[in-house]
Amino acid sequence: MARIAALAALSEQPDGLTRTYLTPQHQQANELVAGWMQEAGLHARIDAAGNVVGRREGREPGLPCLMLGSHLDSVRNAGVYDGMLGVVTAIECVAALGDTPLPFAIEIVGFGDEEGVRFQATMLGSRAVAGTFDPALLDLTDRDGVPMREAMARFGLDPTRIGEAARRREDVLAYVEYHIEQGPVLEDEGLPVGVVTAINGQARFRLTFEGMAGHAGTVPMGLRRDALAAAAECVLVAERLAGERPQAVATVGQASVSPGATNVIPGAVVLSLDVRAPDDGVRDALAADILAACEATCAKRNVRLACERTHQLGSCACAPWLRGQLAAAVAAEGHPVRELPSGAGHDAMAMAALADVAMLFLRCERGISHHPAEAITAEDAAIGARVFARFIAGFTAGRGGA
Ligand SMILES: [Zn+2]
Repeated sequence: MARIAALAALSEQPDGLTRTYLTPQHQQANELVAGWMQEAGLHARIDAAGNVVGRREGREPGLPCLMLGSHLDSVRNAGVYDGMLGVVTAIECVAALGDTPLPFAIEIVGFGDEEGVRFQATMLGSRAVAGTFDPALLDLTDRDGVPMREAMARFGLDPTRIGEAARRREDVLAYVEYHIEQGPVLEDEGLPVGVVTAINGQARFRLTFEGMAGHAGTVPMGLRRDALAAAAECVLVAERLAGERPQAVATVGQASVSPGATNVIPGAVVLSLDVRAPDDGVRDALAADILAACEATCAKRNVRLACERTHQLGSCACAPWLRGQLAAAVAAEGHPVRELPSGAGHDAMAMAALADVAMLFLRCERGISHHPAEAITAEDAAIGARVFARFIAGFTAGRGGA
């Protein structure tokens, strides 16, 4: 908890935490974490993408590694556990191993960018390690107009060498990430930890409703083509259809109404729709059902509907062999095994391009995250660390392993 507080103090804003990719605060966080890694017996270095990487050799040098990690960047005015808890705990767990020789190496990565705040592209650190970093991204600029390639140079990195951060498949046995849940499920069920089954895929749409604006006093109800009334019905349709599918979620988070006057019937509305599920087939079926129901609603109301898909991200399944080993560690520590999907995106999604992945979740208060009120208890932090340490010490390379 003290280390998380020390990291949280490295912020771009005076009160609260904001730390984004390739900033002086990112540099300071890397130095602090590298020091803790060295203390824990890891050899620490900064890779070509600005990630801090620590390595502990196994029984003999050069063995493939179990890779652990999470991110050191944050959203603006963030909580202090998102990302950092996973890095700090992994270091603590490796320190607790002492000199015990293991049949595999361990590496811990503190990724420099997951949230994508500075350059509006996410998981830059983990994409670089996974070998899926597209060099075209180097031309992206931050809000001050600084291109990523220049920010890298200022950070002391050579942007033309970012490919060197990529790791070879045969050198990584698995990637396992420990993270706060960022949702309320574990707390609701009174459980400290959970094993992630899959990271939900996402699909986002823009729905444009076109009705007919008119005078709020003169147009009789039966003659109206109220775009907002149609949109409202569609919001409820999305809520109902998602509720009928376990583990799927649908959210309308944005609505704009025009002309937006108290005495004018709404003529046009634009809604956002975000649909997520652990399985892409379930997600796509749900999205299709919602859109079909919206079409029917609009046809009945004589409102024109246009749907545009704005974003799509495939789901990422956690490897059953790793899930099994995490579940065994949870049970051995005396806790019920709860498996749950992740509704939020994580570095593990990018790392799945390189190796089998899995995640362990820790309960957080009221599920609040990406907010200064984000909280865990020291008691839970200890429970999570014990489970994670047990998993690491007992790790056995499975499918795809050595
Ligand atoms: Zn995170």
